[in-house]
Amino acid sequence: MEPNEKFMSEMERVQKVYGVRVTNKKEKYWLWRSIDVVLRILSLGKKKTFLTEFTTTLFETIYFPVDWTPENADALDIVTLHHELVHVSRIRELGDGEAIHGMFWFTVAYLFLPLPIGFAWFRYKWEREGYLKGAQIAKSLGYNIDLEVLVDALSGPSYIWAWPFKKGIRKWFAEHLK
Ligand SMILES: [Zn+2]
Repeated sequence: MEPNEKFMSEMERVQKVYGVRVTNKKEKYWLWRSIDVVLRILSLGKKKTFLTEFTTTLFETIYFPVDWTPENADALDIVTLHHELVHVSRIRELGDGEAIHGMFWFTVAYLFLPLPIGFAWFRYKWEREGYLKGAQIAKSLGYNIDLEVLVDALSGPSYIWAWPFKKGIRKWFAEHLK
């Protein structure tokens, strides 16, 4: 099976089982473009791939990068899909099953608590659980996991410096990825 066929069959399965929708950032483009501008400013120009490389979840819809299509999906997109599904579960849980309510609390805590930059516990915690799931799926697909990529993502500009304690991040993943 080609990687994109594998992806498409997994996408169809999760859309049915989890009731999510998968699309790309051409949909709601102006929202994503506006967030992109804000992220470039906040990261002092370091995060510039929000539209072209990052996948984002809003309510129960997963938005892949702007030029992405299921037809050109690669094997790692399955990893991304499962990372985002973790966010959907968290959003639903925070809204007592209602993503529409959960998204509000998710967004507030994700962006601002307790600090928006440098000590964003909820952003760190929720990205960490997404990356853990992604890493488990990647492992099961035969990939080697480079913990430093995860540590850099969560402590650096990719998530606007969510968490400062690199050692702690490394230790958490090392323990949970056994
Ligand atoms: Zn995420």
